[in-house]
Amino acid sequence: MLKVKFLSKLPVLACPLPAKDLELNTRNRNAAIKADHIQYGPLNLSDESYWGRLADHWKTDEETAKKSLCGNCVAFDISPRMDDCMPGSVSDEEGRLGYCWMHHFKCHSARTCYTWAAGGPIKDNKVSSEWASKNELNEQKRSKKEKDWISKKISYLAKENPETPNDQRVAIALNMANKKFE
Ligand code: SF4
Repeated sequence: MLKVKFLSKLPVLACPLPAKDLELNTRNRNAAIKADHIQYGPLNLSDESYWGRLADHWKTDEETAKKSLCGNCVAFDISPRMDDCMPGSVSDEEGRLGYCWMHHFKCHSARTCYTWAAGGPIKDNKVSSEWASKNELNEQKRSKKEKDWISKKISYLAKENPETPNDQRVAIALNMANKKFE
């Protein structure tokens, strides 16, 4: 309860860096496409092999898999606050761009990834700010044990996936720590 009160008093947060930095956004998106546990896609929406692979991964059929998209993922931020962070148009004939808080890049509502989770999209400025705040607060409130675990995980990811940008490795390690220590 205290945490909710504290969050509600936080000032409006700055835009996430990848939303405005094309190079960083591209690096994070490419890492999300390549990472075995993320597999962001498909590049071509009519790529049936991707949807088949996704259905196999989730042990379901393709029609069901196609209903779990960035557009309804819990991490997909399309709040007015986030729209203001986007440098250009966010819409096209297939859907729209939003910010992915899980993997830190601008993803498309008609695509998806292996870590999709129900409950989105984020449409409210307050919820968007809370996601941003939680990332920062989680950093500050972690115990030494958690911080040590995260450091080891980042080192492990660096060894296993040397091409993955460091901020992407940090984001992955933080997500894993959130689940492990929740
Ligand atoms: S975590 Fe959600 S919003 Fe991010 S890429 Fe995956 S499906 Fe899209």
